[in-house]
Amino acid sequence: MPKKQANIWVMPGGPTSEWQQLPADALARLKGLLGWDVKLYLAPAEFARVFKIGFAEEGYSGSASVVSHLVTRLQQAGAVYKRTSHFTVCEDCGYPDSTQLCKKCGGKIISAEREGYYFRVDKYSERIHEFLGSDNLVLPRLQQAYVLNNINTMPIDDYLIAIKISRAKQEFMPTDCLGALAAVLSGSGYSVDDGGFQRLWPNTYLFFPRESLNYMYFWCSVFLALSIPQPGGFVCHSGIKLLDQRQQEVSPLLLAQNYSPDSIRYLLLATKATIEENTYSEDQVIHRINHDLANELGNLVTRVISLVSHFADGMVPSPNILTRQNADLELRERALDTPGKVEKYISSQELSQAIKAIKNLIGVTNRFIVSTAPWQLAPGGNQQERLNTVLYNICESLRFIAVSLKPIMPKAAQRIMEQLGIDGNNELSSWSSLGQWGLLPVDSKISPQSVLFPRIIPGYGGIGPYQDLIHREELARINMVVARVLSAELVAEFEGLLHLILYDGRQRYSVLAPVARSSPPGFLQGKKVVLLSNLMPSETEGLKNEGEILVLETEAGDLKPVFIDDDIPEGSEVSCLN
Ligand SMILES: [Zn+2]
Repeated sequence: MPKKQANIWVMPGGPTSEWQQLPADALARLKGLLGWDVKLYLAPAEFARVFKIGFAEEGYSGSASVVSHLVTRLQQAGAVYKRTSHFTVCEDCGYPDSTQLCKKCGGKIISAEREGYYFRVDKYSERIHEFLGSDNLVLPRLQQAYVLNNINTMPIDDYLIAIKISRAKQEFMPTDCLGALAAVLSGSGYSVDDGGFQRLWPNTYLFFPRESLNYMYFWCSVFLALSIPQPGGFVCHSGIKLLDQRQQEVSPLLLAQNYSPDSIRYLLLATKATIEENTYSEDQVIHRINHDLANELGNLVTRVISLVSHFADGMVPSPNILTRQNADLELRERALDTPGKVEKYISSQELSQAIKAIKNLIGVTNRFIVSTAPWQLAPGGNQQERLNTVLYNICESLRFIAVSLKPIMPKAAQRIMEQLGIDGNNELSSWSSLGQWGLLPVDSKISPQSVLFPRIIPGYGGIGPYQDLIHREELARINMVVARVLSAELVAEFEGLLHLILYDGRQRYSVLAPVARSSPPGFLQGKKVVLLSNLMPSETEGLKNEGEILVLETEAGDLKPVFIDDDIPEGSEVSCLN
């Protein structure tokens, strides 16, 4: 059976257009998880790059044949008439422009007599209400009234949709509004008579920023004129305004840089939909991240992983059905209930409801841990079996949470799955795997990582590089010792790189350091440096790299080791903690 296909379009226009990319991305990711072929069309932009929008298609152009087809059919339907008059158009491509140089091709703008094609919007204005007022066409449902009210105030003057070009090959040059519609329709296979359009159009979602509701108005009129059925949905979300400490508006990109794209994604998607624009102060942003992400989700992940590390040697233990209690059944039921809700609410674009369903499962799992108190079930004793059951269940519940989060916070979801040891395992991280409880294999090895969402300290001097702050606990994990250079040799293949053998009084370390320019091999021999001694080893050109040394940058831009006085014994610990 061929895969189901969905097309999702985010219309350009205005600042809220960017925000629309996030709910569109959530829908695209959900459809992808459900096994659909998905295309997400959007104007390529910095925003999409920073937020790692999935399934994004470059290119956004309407096909010339669809433009001609539309103009001709609209004329036949009596919806379009032509009138010859003077237009300012591009001499080369025919695009109607009022600037000096054509914004499409850079050609010269001239005033010339041309045939203009006008659409009679007023013929359809009555029926648009009925069209847009039907159930589940405008999403989220809450926005339907807003859209209809705005459509009411749109001008009903005849609308220039295309100009006949005399010299170029292309017959009609569409204005922006028709051009965008032609792009959407050709992307869905319109006018290619193979039934593809009938299949794809009901699964085509059109995201309109509020600034572009006039497009929606015009498009619906065209659909009515040509008896084109309703698409899958017109999606329209209200905008979000972010204010910094000085109450000035800031870009979501800046916030994403400071607080991680995933948390800002979460913030937008978790915001309860309202008719009005939402405003967030930076304090509210911080509060929300700390409360929902650091405390509830982040703590749960840390807790589960450390309980399994501590009480089960880092392996998912085997549950024992005989020790099952009511709390286990409730947890299982809530977990099995969650993906269906997430799917339903993302499909209806009620993203905050989808997130609420996941938050509920997070809450239930946190309460399950408190009520079962695994730390009181002493390992090795007669409660060992019960302990195993509890630990298994919290790991499995975390799998449900992680997979359910995939459309909302892909990066965080991935990091949770990595810790559970199931990232990349399609059977355990697919949406359909959430149809069954208990798929997480016994003896899976869990791998703890650094904190998922570090707590943010409010009032840290406004928007700053929070992401660069590290926890003191993390600092304590780095071992630094004074080490003596036993030997130093140039690495032939890499200019400036030295292969050092260091000694910390107990063992030797092979270390690669790019310091040859400031410190030639002979100079280094016998010197004492600071060695970071507990790093994961790596290898370059067959040479082991078992640590790093502290270096500083000279004025000339070279790297130079930080040297330690000769009378300090090798092996002395170096730290920044007292
Ligand atoms: Zn041009």
